[in-house]
Amino acid sequence: MNSLRASVNKNTCIGCGICTEICPAIFELDPMGLSESTIATIDPSLGSTVRQAAESCPTDAITVM
Ligand code: SF4
Repeated sequence: MNSLRASVNKNTCIGCGICTEICPAIFELDPMGLSESTIATIDPSLGSTVRQAAESCPTDAITVM
């Protein structure tokens, strides 16, 4: 399985913190209170967790590639 990448659209992120709660290994709130992915290449073992975070985002701000 290939490795994954996740990105957060800061124009649509509302800083609710759901993704950082579901997947703290990848998402972190920046000083502005918006989420960002802290890992450039995500290990496939975290695939289901990062997808769950993306699906749980209320504004669909997370893209998993
Ligand atoms: S779940 Fe979505 S809106 Fe909430 S902090 Fe994460 S990226 Fe932003």
